[in-house]
Amino acid sequence: MKLLVPVKRVVDYNVKIRVKPDGSGVELANVKMSMNPFDEIAIEEAVRLKEQGKATEIVAVSIGPAQAAETIRTALAMGADRGILVKTDATVEPLAVAKILKKLVEQESPQLVIMGKQAIDDDANQTGQMLAALLGWPQGTFAFKVALDTNTIDVTREVDGGLQTVSLTLPAIVTTDLRLNEPRYASLPNIMKAKKKPLDETTPETLGVDVAPRLKVVKTAEPGGRKAGVKVGSVAELVNKLKTEAGVL
Ligand code: AMP
Repeated sequence: MKLLVPVKRVVDYNVKIRVKPDGSGVELANVKMSMNPFDEIAIEEAVRLKEQGKATEIVAVSIGPAQAAETIRTALAMGADRGILVKTDATVEPLAVAKILKKLVEQESPQLVIMGKQAIDDDANQTGQMLAALLGWPQGTFAFKVALDTNTIDVTREVDGGLQTVSLTLPAIVTTDLRLNEPRYASLPNIMKAKKKPLDETTPETLGVDVAPRLKVVKTAEPGGRKAGVKVGSVAELVNKLKTEAGVL
């Protein structure tokens, strides 16, 4: 069984985000970039399914600039078999990503697409659902646990107030939640081996997908800073302030 795993290159989760002075977006120059954490979980799950003998091939895909090849190499070092880079310097919105992934699914015919529930840069949480709609495939989103069989996959989902298990007929889309697994670190030998694994390149134009944006970012702003605190002289003063200023008593 072939698995397709989309991996996005995003600002590393440890980086303190800075907004561009003109408010047009987030500063990306000289910022550490990494694989989207939910996509690491997706790769880990795919590799575990291969180790269990349930999957035979894992194809990692990234849509982005030339440097997104590094993200694919990370996926290859974790255990993916080959990569496809859809190279573009444009900002690619979830709908365009889903259209590109649809084309690749038609070319590659995977039985399962495992992807992150959301990319931590724009927090869209849209691509998996859009891809399922475009393909007419069933979707199991926010996966907490998966059980893959020959023709079906049971996905236990994190929902408000508990867990829900759905049974999907393959081919299907699964999006990963945080508690599905703990991704492994790539070992040095595997990082070296990954350099020799195949990585094909294509473009949105070659795939016939128009990635022109449909959304316009009106404004990006940092959250307002916290106001400085005050020291009170006595409990009576504190109670008075809670009553008259904070209005919580
Ligand atoms: P989003 O809908 O943007 O929050 O992204 C959800 C998931 O779609 C991510 O976790 C990735 O698996 C996939 N995805 C989104 N954008 C890209 C991209 N440019 N390249 C590869 N995968 C992507």
